[in-house]
Amino acid sequence: MQNQYDVIVAGGGPSGVAAAIAAARNGCNTLIIEQEAYFGGMATLACVPAFGPYTNGVQDLIGGIGREILEELKKGGYESPFYDRKPDRMEGIDWYPIDPERLKPILDHLVTDSGCEVLFHTAVTDVKSHDGTIEAVQVFGKGGFQWLEAKYFIDCTGDGDLAAMAGASWEYGDAQGRVQAGTLCFRAAGIDVERFMDYVRREGENGNLSVASEKAKRDGRFPAGETKLCGMALQADGMAGLNFGHVYDLKPLDPWNLSQAEMEARRKLPEMIQFLREYVPGMEHCVLASSGPYLGIRESRRIKGGYTLTKEDYRNRADFPDAIAYYSYPIDLHAAVPEESRENEELYRDSKYKNGECYGIPYRCLIPEGMKNLAVAGRSISADRAMMASVRIMSACFATGQAAGTAAALGVKEGGALELGDVDTGLLRKRLREQKVYIMNNQSSPGRM
Ligand SMILES: Cc1cc2nc3c(=O)[nH]c(=O)nc-3n(C[C@H](O)[C@H](O)[C@H](O)COP(=O)(O)OP(=O)(O)OC[C@H]3O[C@@H](n4cnc5c(N)ncnc54)[C@H](O)[C@@H]3O)c2cc1C
Repeated sequence: MQNQYDVIVAGGGPSGVAAAIAAARNGCNTLIIEQEAYFGGMATLACVPAFGPYTNGVQDLIGGIGREILEELKKGGYESPFYDRKPDRMEGIDWYPIDPERLKPILDHLVTDSGCEVLFHTAVTDVKSHDGTIEAVQVFGKGGFQWLEAKYFIDCTGDGDLAAMAGASWEYGDAQGRVQAGTLCFRAAGIDVERFMDYVRREGENGNLSVASEKAKRDGRFPAGETKLCGMALQADGMAGLNFGHVYDLKPLDPWNLSQAEMEARRKLPEMIQFLREYVPGMEHCVLASSGPYLGIRESRRIKGGYTLTKEDYRNRADFPDAIAYYSYPIDLHAAVPEESRENEELYRDSKYKNGECYGIPYRCLIPEGMKNLAVAGRSISADRAMMASVRIMSACFATGQAAGTAAALGVKEGGALELGDVDTGLLRKRLREQKVYIMNNQSSPGRM
């Protein structure tokens, strides 16, 4: 164990693993620090049941490390017969189910195989910085407090913890300071898949189990306070992951509020299982196999970067000369309070792109204003609230993570003195392309700086 690195990545969710693998594969002495005991972030820690779309219906927009992880998961994995077949989705790439127990060792292997050092059970608690340069991060684990130094740092905590500790500016929530509701995703076991699939085909049931949900609502038997089931994926034979249930008035940066939220979410689970047993053929005998273990957090800090991606950019299908990733998922804002649900569903529906369309994510969104050796990736990059509700999807987080790790490696190659904001984005885009990331040829596009 050393205490000096080229690159330190804080947080081992989708953006963190991609950032760490990219930095290490590009020759950097890299450390990834994760407060839990495994990688995956919301995919494993919160049991989110499926990877959101990688494609815009015709093109893989992610490629690179994100696609590699997906392909590893598919190897020898359960072939789910339950896909929500729609013309804008590519089966096997969009909405691929995540069995968290399969994903964990895959990520262990890919991260360690890249040469990256791993520090689990350890939280980043403080930073030592001077004039926009972070010198070291303080971590806390069973070994007590410790300072670790690096030339470059990448904040992939999902909450922008490291950037905020370093004094970067950030925004949070809507005009009232409210964020999207959280969800305690869970796994149900004991499903008769054949019977379930007969029902799905017969009734035209979809990934939201909307047919069963509407029936239960008419009977007054849908779980109290819920408007819909967000998603279900068959992850293994007889086993499904469900994104179901909302905890409102959530304050993800306040552990007192989070403690109440976790217990409230757990209290609601029996009612959800009961609904599945009563209304979904094939699930009559299903049981709760596991939940969380952590309440799923959709939104917290948005770090202010050199550019803030906006809803207008989404509408314009904006491209940028320094775009380091592309994405196309609609604006998927979950209500902060139940009254907002209908409005948000309309926004989601109205914001859907046509097949083949996408927007670019500029490199500047990853670099916090005034910071010299810090990048941010994942759901806390610089975006307005509506855009965050699109870029927060895991496939996009892989892409911004890979870009941040590759950018830090370019800085290390220059000896570590290069400010991340000064990275040659033409070269970065070239490197990303070489690593099979989808980078549009935007020389002649209407992209703007
Ligand atoms: C309920 C729910 C449903 C969703 N549904 C989907 C879906 O169907 N498909 C999809 O693709 N996306 C979905 N998302 C979105 C997606 O899961 C997240 O936005 C995405 O995982 C964010 O990735 P990230 O790397 O930015 O952060 P996270 O996944 O949040 O990972 C952050 C990691 O950092 C660690 N960490 C945090 N703070 C510290 C610290 N101080 N020190 C050390 N480690 C730290 C955490 O333990 C965690 O492992 C959903 C999200 C939620 C909550």
